[in-house]
Amino acid sequence: MKKITILIPVYNEGANLPALRDALRPLIDNRMTPVPYEWEVLMVNDGSLDNSAALMAQMRLDDDRFCDLNLSRNFGKELAMLAGMDYATGDAVVIMDADLQHPVSVIPQMIAEWEAGYQDVYGIRRSRATDSRVKRWMARKYYSILKKSSRMNVLPHVGDFRLLDRICVNAMRSLRETQRNTKGLFCWIGYKKKEVAFDYGKRNAGKSAYGFARLMELAVDGITSFTTAPLRFATYMGFISAIISLIYLIFIIIKTIFIGEPVQGFPTIMCTILFLGGCQLISIGIIGEYIGRIFKETKGRPPYLVDTFKGKPADSNKN
Ligand code: UDP
Ligand code: MG
Repeated sequence: MKKITILIPVYNEGANLPALRDALRPLIDNRMTPVPYEWEVLMVNDGSLDNSAALMAQMRLDDDRFCDLNLSRNFGKELAMLAGMDYATGDAVVIMDADLQHPVSVIPQMIAEWEAGYQDVYGIRRSRATDSRVKRWMARKYYSILKKSSRMNVLPHVGDFRLLDRICVNAMRSLRETQRNTKGLFCWIGYKKKEVAFDYGKRNAGKSAYGFARLMELAVDGITSFTTAPLRFATYMGFISAIISLIYLIFIIIKTIFIGEPVQGFPTIMCTILFLGGCQLISIGIIGEYIGRIFKETKGRPPYLVDTFKGKPADSNKN
């Protein structure tokens, strides 16, 4: 019998876990799929400050298909997912959020596609109606920039809700970068992909951990981890301002020779200094972003640390 792991990153989701367990029950009792599977529900507690850890431990006591992995602190969803993939033992892994925004009813469809031979079956949102206008606009722009600059088709409206075959899980595990942009990595690994549409639900309880600042951080990580286009942009900007300056220089020399130069020109100098200063700061900032990434990766720290794990040991658990 094939085994499927449901991987759920959990951060302060105490209010959602009981409802989540009830929603999963028909699935893991094999009442939703045409053929039975062996199930494992792996919850990764990403340093929750509420009662999530206690609830997870209780769920395991009630039903040993539930496994709980506690990280030593909050590492962020991206690393919680990596930890989960390291500890998952299934032939396929379904990643879903704990807040019931990802409907359990779509999972049988994903499994059907997996059985048909697809290796990465991802959920695609039918609409982003639950998001604000600004968020939707920014998402659209972001994906178009990423697509143009990296030549990689990171799909809009696609989140982390997906089913991965073991081969994709192992591919994802082989990428040990600590500043992960999982969405981009899913595209990077390739393999046979298939989409399944779903309606993104409202958060069951609590509020999203991803505010504006955290989304921006993720967006910058997405760009700096997949494309060096901003560095090239800085170079182009340098070239363009150098060429313009050169033309202006020639103009000034000729003008001084033939017409003379009564000293003045304070506004010109100020404009030039401010403009060039701005360009230089932008360029340094861009370079800094990349150096920052290099700095963080060269330290070679493990991406996450585990506090406790209760479940079936995977033969290849590693950190
Ligand atoms: N999450 C996590 N670590 C974090 C933040 C979030 O494991 O630092 C989990 C969270 O418990 C949920 C999922 O990631 O299961 C998605 O988080 P959230 O609902 O806050 O994000 P959104 O749905 O707004 O993108
Ligand atoms: Mg959510």
